[in-house]
Amino acid sequence: MKEKIRMLQEELTQYNYEYHVLDTPTVPDAVYDRLLRELFDLEKEYPEYKTEDSPTVRVGGQILDKFEKVEHSTPMLSLGNAFNTEDLRAFDNRIRKVVNEVEYMCELKIDGLAVSLSYDNGRFTVGATRGDGTVGENITENLKTIRAIPLRIDATSNFEVRGEAYMPKSSFEKLNAAREANGQQVFQNPRNAAAGSLRQLDTSLTAKRNLSIFLYGLTHQEMFDIDTQSKSLEMLDELGFKTNKERKVAKNIDEVIKYIEYWQEKRMDLPYEIDGIVIKVNNLSAQEEIGYTVRSPKWAIAYKFPAEEVETKILDIELTV
Ligand code: NAD
Repeated sequence: MKEKIRMLQEELTQYNYEYHVLDTPTVPDAVYDRLLRELFDLEKEYPEYKTEDSPTVRVGGQILDKFEKVEHSTPMLSLGNAFNTEDLRAFDNRIRKVVNEVEYMCELKIDGLAVSLSYDNGRFTVGATRGDGTVGENITENLKTIRAIPLRIDATSNFEVRGEAYMPKSSFEKLNAAREANGQQVFQNPRNAAAGSLRQLDTSLTAKRNLSIFLYGLTHQEMFDIDTQSKSLEMLDELGFKTNKERKVAKNIDEVIKYIEYWQEKRMDLPYEIDGIVIKVNNLSAQEEIGYTVRSPKWAIAYKFPAEEVETKILDIELTV
């Protein structure tokens, strides 16, 4: 078993590198997700083989030397995953063991690249990728080409906002059509295209890619009069940031499941790609009470939509692992 765990750790580390650092994944996300879950289960059963740098405890990938490094003021974490209603109910049960009453904020899980934007005295100063969660890459100049990012806002305190930079479907289609016409390799999906575009050394290339962003988080929330995630999003709106308006507060897990079912059906109608739904405990003090693991908050979970990849491709790969 030790050997099997070690092989899974190595394999997932390689996939992480290809996905997060090179922006060119070699296996479908569904395969990665399944292997990661298998590793989680095995490490739980055999904790003696869990290592400090296992993909189950690390966030994202390594940092390239191409860009300067930026230390995040608070870590940029990953999210635990749910793949079915059973997982969601188990999550809800864990939450309600800690807090009696709970409301959930449901948000679309935008399929892009997590970024952090720092504002000093109302001025956008530094923009960074998530990197390994603690240290990211300084992509400020690339982010400045995104028109939805305000360069100045009406605030005097210093804080960071977090969100997902993405490539709208229409920009993606135009980009790939142009690349094909030029005999260049096409991007696999809007996420890879967005990630690749934001890590260009020539920012004029980034500017041509028509990227956008949705902000979903505010660090140092104590500086604002906020006690829920919904108010945090409203505050981001007030400050002039672009947030996603399809969000909804659910009174219980059944309402969360209805929201998921609705978007699972409607996701194709959106002008951008989503790969799931993020469910967050709405109350901020309840979030603190519930706490964190090293890798992700315990008060949130990402429900992943079933993969659309060609099954034969997935099966082929599975046979080799
Ligand atoms: P994740 O994508 O499961 O969840 C965390 C991320 O969700 C955050 O960092 C943020 O970027 C994003 N997000 C989008 N909308 C959000 C919202 N409203 N609120 C909060 N967060 C929101 O975890 P991850 O660690 O970023 O990456 C794992 C993902 O990458 C999985 O989808 C996995 O399949 C894929 N992956 C694939 C490969 C591969 O080889 N195919 C390798 C590594 C990772």
